[in-house]
Amino acid sequence: MKKDIFICHASEDKVSVARPLASCLAQRGLTYWVDEAEISAGESITERVNEGLKVSDFVVVILSRAFMAKPWPKRELWAVLNLEAKSGKVIIIPILVGTQTEVDGIVEKLPLLNDKLFLPWNGDANRVADNIQTTVLKSQGLSHEPQVEMHTCGHCATPFQHGVHVCLGCQGTIQYGITAQERIQVKQTTAVVITILSLFIMFILPFYSELWLGFKLPSMLGIGIWSFPIVIIILLGGAFYAEARMVASKAHLIRTFRKT
Ligand SMILES: [Zn+2]
Repeated sequence: MKKDIFICHASEDKVSVARPLASCLAQRGLTYWVDEAEISAGESITERVNEGLKVSDFVVVILSRAFMAKPWPKRELWAVLNLEAKSGKVIIIPILVGTQTEVDGIVEKLPLLNDKLFLPWNGDANRVADNIQTTVLKSQGLSHEPQVEMHTCGHCATPFQHGVHVCLGCQGTIQYGITAQERIQVKQTTAVVITILSLFIMFILPFYSELWLGFKLPSMLGIGIWSFPIVIIILLGGAFYAEARMVASKAHLIRTFRKT
């Protein structure tokens, strides 16, 4: 299952930073990976962060003296922080832990941080969690923006938004699904076909039934006047069935009818 945040940290920062931060995030309704996100010495940071990105929307990287002292190539850490520059949205949230001197030292080793919004850690997990929550909500707000579905006019190729009823290019009428006319037509056609077929079976077929079918079919199906209500029920049922079939078959169609 995907979670909101992957808290990438050195084991030394687990108790003092990663865990308190995680519990503050949980209080704000955010889900996280923390134990799974611990980096052991010698592990590839890039690999870990990429892994985190697969299972979460954000990767919080806790940058501390302990983290920086690990034998990880600086170039790799740089690449990690640079990841989001390619994606164009905030996905990596660095947190700087330590005294001012220590923080200055980290920024010096990772000049990229100068251009980046990072969160300083002053021991107040609630404040940092608030900032992370703001970032997460902002990104969700953006990603939940309604997507406008676009179509192209079949006559003049002018693009139009879904829901528009007149093409701006050719002034044609844009129809979604079945037209009122098609609805009537299909009912009429079905009614005519069923009526002719019924009359044929009730009045004409009985004359030729012995010759064609080998048995005697009684006129009006042998039930006289009662055959008519039966035909009418079949007629109504048939017409509605045919209409429903037509509606379903044309439901996904978006057509432009040229103005006449
Ligand atoms: Zn058009």
